[in-house]
Amino acid sequence: MINVILFGPPGSGKGTQAIKLSKSLGLIHLSTGDILRKAIANKTPLGIKAREYMDKGELVPDTDVAQMVVNAVDRNAGAKGFIFDGFPRNVFQARFLDKMLEERNTSIHYLIALEVNHDELIKRLLNRAKIESRTDDNLEVIENRIKIYFDQTFPVIEHYKSQGKFYPVNGVGTVEEVNDRICKILTKEE
Ligand code: AMP
Repeated sequence: MINVILFGPPGSGKGTQAIKLSKSLGLIHLSTGDILRKAIANKTPLGIKAREYMDKGELVPDTDVAQMVVNAVDRNAGAKGFIFDGFPRNVFQARFLDKMLEERNTSIHYLIALEVNHDELIKRLLNRAKIESRTDDNLEVIENRIKIYFDQTFPVIEHYKSQGKFYPVNGVGTVEEVNDRICKILTKEE
């Protein structure tokens, strides 16, 4: 199995790269943001609850997200591996993920961290707001999501760095250029 965390601030291109990699490597793309947006669209109890947090750019409670991830992993038992996109979002979730994978006799192999400067992130997110009309892509919420990333999510890097699994990647460039940089890491070490 090969399990990858695609990591980075909002707007760093995690989703785009995760979709490409899941196709080329045959891994399951597990995006907690996508699952939550589907729950909102279907007006499920989880969706109704999650929306309150997402519209403000805050994190949805850990227990809800953790349960969602367990369900998605177990639904795909026998998969070649997973690309986790948008999860873990804090150190609690990282510890939870490690334990859950250990119980299934596997682990995280790579944390690929996409690095993009602040101005470029804002530019990309405002542009995406026009195209996708996501309710959390307005300037105030975007700034809050970036702040939460640096306060709560960034420490996840340290967690995996200490396990020797941290791989920073320059996230500025064309989709293909960034994809090539990631593939070099995943194929070299596999
Ligand atoms: P994303 O599509 O990954 O940018 O996520 C959009 C929003 O969904 C985030 O701003 C959070 O409100 C929520 N979300 C996604 N993943 C998580 C997670 N792992 N933990 C908590 N909230 C999450």
